[in-house]
Amino acid sequence: MQEAGAQLSLNPADFPSPPAAIARVVRLASDPDVTSDKLGAVVASDPAFTAELLRTVNSPFYGLKQPVTAAARAVTVLGIRALRNLAICFAVRDSLRNSGLRGPDLEVFWEDCLRRAVAARAIARATGKVSPEEAFTIGLLQDFGVLALLRANRNHTAQWAEWRLQLPEPRREIEVTQFGISHDGVAKLLGERWSLPQQLTDALATHHTPEKCPPPSRELAFVAFHADNIGALLAGKTSAALPAVRIGLKETYKLEDKATDKLLDGLPGEVEAAAAGLGMRVAKQAPFANILAEANRTLVQMNMSYEEITSRLEAALAEKEMLMQQLAGANAELARLAFFDPLTGLCNRRHYDKVFRELLTRAASTGKPLSLVMVDLDKFKSVNDNYGHPTGDAVLRSTAAAILANSHDADLKARLGGEELAVVLPDTDAHQALAAAERLREAIARASVTTAKGPLRVTASFGVATFMGSGQPVDVERLVTMLTEVSDKALYESKENGRNRVTVGGLIR
Ligand code: GH3
Ligand code: MG
Ligand code: MG
Repeated sequence: MQEAGAQLSLNPADFPSPPAAIARVVRLASDPDVTSDKLGAVVASDPAFTAELLRTVNSPFYGLKQPVTAAARAVTVLGIRALRNLAICFAVRDSLRNSGLRGPDLEVFWEDCLRRAVAARAIARATGKVSPEEAFTIGLLQDFGVLALLRANRNHTAQWAEWRLQLPEPRREIEVTQFGISHDGVAKLLGERWSLPQQLTDALATHHTPEKCPPPSRELAFVAFHADNIGALLAGKTSAALPAVRIGLKETYKLEDKATDKLLDGLPGEVEAAAAGLGMRVAKQAPFANILAEANRTLVQMNMSYEEITSRLEAALAEKEMLMQQLAGANAELARLAFFDPLTGLCNRRHYDKVFRELLTRAASTGKPLSLVMVDLDKFKSVNDNYGHPTGDAVLRSTAAAILANSHDADLKARLGGEELAVVLPDTDAHQALAAAERLREAIARASVTTAKGPLRVTASFGVATFMGSGQPVDVERLVTMLTEVSDKALYESKENGRNRVTVGGLIR
């Protein structure tokens, strides 16, 4: 049995594979250079797919006036994109037949897929935001990842019958708890396995967080998001899904409740027609009027008005918003920790290594000078020995504060480790760097830390190295090494000559 929260490791093989012939069509149809002739020839080479295609194209589902009798003609009539979508739909259907789900579960899964598909298509038609066919395809595919999750862990098939009745968000959270990953999280693997076009994969991966979808497919992700809620409503999760659908469509598309109800009204019939068109059977779908009545009945039973449930939902959304803000705050904090040394607030070593190289590269290309100032506190060990480590820390903080207060914003100020600090000064020649280092030296010597034994002052020694800029390509790694060595050596000289002083090392060209 899978532990709750355990990570389920999935690989592409856990996805039902598309039938080879169909996979070839999908791949070929996603190639921007493909021609209808070429595609027609590939379709025609597979009699089973051709028969299916012709049956579907000639069914009332497509409503063509003239019967189509050849694969090549079907490709021309449908267009390449529509053919690709149809091939994906066939593939979904066939892989469902070969999935771990059996009997009634399989039918219900298929039914849910179709509900989302027709819902997505209806939204596309009502809003004109995306192609209805594309919308149908994503609706059919959007929860396909669930199959992979179930295949990789068949113990959960029985529980799935309950999960499917949840609203999309809680359902997704159940997956995360049970499998360590959710169906949208496996979209990339599905996309690879099925050679799906990138935009479809992007929308699949973000249909629970459509605002995060890359712009070319964001509208499609939004359509899928709302189709998910409608799917839950049609599946019988009426009381909570109805407000979710109405509020959602109002917020995203400014659809008023009346327009939404009209859109919903046609869906049960469309589910049946789409199933027939794709050669699958589904149970007779409850008319929307019944669903609406059921929703109202449950709401009354729960002793809650539509207004109440609406305000609850809005409160939940507000809470989500708040959590998102907290998360954003936490992310900013993480970013800060990743770049900065927590004791002093100076950049950490890793960030220094990166930015130093960037500044050097810029200096090399602009031909402007750059100076590196190494700083090392004098006799710092004795501060720790005589005053204790916490006072040593306070001295480090006050030294950093003196450096921050007496350097430019453009300078890179870092703690390289222990009591070794560095300041990189762009656009600064050796003469200017000497003046800057003197200013820092004086500021550090002036600063004091309060201790039980009275105010404590420390001094620091400095070593300066300058790169003269070149205006031509340079070996940045070599420059880093040379500047570091020259400034270290100069710092050592400052120590040798009595500390609390600045030594300027040689120039590097
Ligand atoms: P010199 O003038 O030759 O640089 O003498 P020094 O005592 O500063 O030199 P040394 O490198 O021998 O000692 C550095 C000391 O810095 C050793 C260590 O106890 C102290 N130190 C390093 N990191 C920290 C820290 O994070 N907090 C505190 N309080 N002390 C630190
Ligand atoms: Mg020292
Ligand atoms: Mg030292």
